[in-house]
Amino acid sequence: MTRLDFAGVGIDIAAARIVSDVSLHVAPGEMMGLVGPNGSGKSTLLRSAYRVLRPAAGAVFIGGENVWDLSAREAARRRAIVTQHTVLGAEFSVEEVVAMGRTPHKGMLDRDGAEDRRTVEQALADVHMGWAARRSFATLSGGEQQRVLLARALAQEAGLLILDEPTNHLDVRAQFEVLDLLRHLGMTTLTALHDLDHAVSYCDRVAVMAEGGLVAVGAPEDVLTPELVHRVFGVRAVLDTHPITGRPRIAVASAGRPPTRARTRDHAADASAP
Ligand code: ADP
Ligand code: MG
Repeated sequence: MTRLDFAGVGIDIAAARIVSDVSLHVAPGEMMGLVGPNGSGKSTLLRSAYRVLRPAAGAVFIGGENVWDLSAREAARRRAIVTQHTVLGAEFSVEEVVAMGRTPHKGMLDRDGAEDRRTVEQALADVHMGWAARRSFATLSGGEQQRVLLARALAQEAGLLILDEPTNHLDVRAQFEVLDLLRHLGMTTLTALHDLDHAVSYCDRVAVMAEGGLVAVGAPEDVLTPELVHRVFGVRAVLDTHPITGRPRIAVASAGRPPTRARTRDHAADASAP
């Protein structure tokens, strides 16, 4: 299992600093949740670990190596990615999609060998999708597609899994299936999550972003206090024990005074725009 380190990462897009000075350590085998309001920079930060956005300041290290010192292929052997929405043509079967995960392990003209086929089969079994191997990927439900994409990530045999809101667009049961699988895999995992309760109930630690910076990191119940949730998300929150699971849970409610001052200013700016 692989460790992941962001060291003083700053990221610029179109000459604007979108992410500032993020230092974050994800330990081997740990499941870290990344939460924050829309636009707080979660996806941008993750893209620096995907090796898509090169940090303007600091660096991202996977297993101690700077991702920009690795080739794209070497990086793909070390970390697998699952995002919230992946569109693939109807012509791909489920097993072909999972076999794409083998690409970084093969030469350009290599066909799938026996080991590749075994790995694909095992990955599909791990996400309980073996039954769909020959189905067209495009015909699966959203939850099934996410499980297949998770299988593709497993077939990649990377030590680190990075996910960007992998449960978006899924119904409640499919959301839990994906999260249960992530927990069960026990891999080093950094995942942006939309739902604070998923972060509380599934993650070992959470990192909270606001306005491009990291504002808190720690055990969910230590970090997602009513004060912090109110300050960062503008909602009321209470942490208690889930009546079904017996584990910590967070309940949120409207702060009850729309709109916030910051938004009022935005609206005023919008109204005065030509
Ligand atoms: P999150 O994933 O937390 O919702 P993002 O990382 O997507 O946030 O976005 C952070 C900020 O960066 C937002 O203000 C967004 O508008 C801006 N941003 C992201 N991508 C671009 C881009 N390609 N061009 C300009 N601004 C961008
Ligand atoms: Mg995002």
